Amino acid sequence: MSTRKPLIAGNWKMNLNHLEAIALVQKLAFALNDKDFDKVDVAVLPPFTDLRSVQTLVDGDKLRIVYGSQDLSRHDAGAYTGEISGAMLAKLGCTFVTIGHSERRQYHHEDDDLVNAKVQAAYRHSLTPILCVGETLEIRQAQNQTGHCEAQLEAAMRGISEEQAKSIVVAYEPVWAIGTGEVATPQDAQEVCSALRARLAALYTPEVAVGIRILYGGSVKSDNIAGIMAQPDIDGALVGGASLDAGEYVKICRFGE
Ligand code: PEP
Repeated sequence: MSTRKPLIAGNWKMNLNHLEAIALVQKLAFALNDKDFDKVDVAVLPPFTDLRSVQTLVDGDKLRIVYGSQDLSRHDAGAYTGEISGAMLAKLGCTFVTIGHSERRQYHHEDDDLVNAKVQAAYRHSLTPILCVGETLEIRQAQNQTGHCEAQLEAAMRGISEEQAKSIVVAYEPVWAIGTGEVATPQDAQEVCSALRARLAALYTPEVAVGIRILYGGSVKSDNIAGIMAQPDIDGALVGGASLDAGEYVKICRFGE
């Protein structure tokens, strides 16, 4: 019997101005109540420049919303112009850090080695990685989606101990479903998430694997979240576009109800 608490995480990407960011967190704080937070962990992943404001709101009002960043540097400090370290994010009270999002892999040429280095950097600063894996349309058409995602997972977890692995969050995000309005069927998403859990069991132990949260991401909305959450190996969602609308995001956090 799994004790995994669902997690809904909102990836704002490079959106919202400063005031809009504050307003969105305030709207979520007004709409979500203790009953919601008892059932689901709710996270927001704003741009770096809004983390301090989100921290102030969360700390000031003791909100149960948690937050994190969309990326981090593989390095801890030094002459790396433009980079943001895990230490800086930890100081800002981040719980999570997204690593290996397909937009970083695609537009910033992040490969499996860099993703692995970033996962290690996150753990050095007690941040919880939300590790993204997912296949392109070509890979899915060649029906190699599970093998591809398992290989990405295995590469990202190199050198990560069993103790560390227990807290990781894995997000299965088929690249062809991100921002396209084309959502994977719950069954297709379950197939890959179940393979990822099996791979975690092989890399660590079945007990570790059964405790790890695996999310689905890719055009999640309030009208498709229920089917996704009904799958046994899916423990929540990484939500992009729909996380920018407070009303829609709250509905997703309530699994469409
Ligand atoms: C994402 O950015 O991780 C994502 C899943 O985006 P969207 O929900 O917009 O497809």
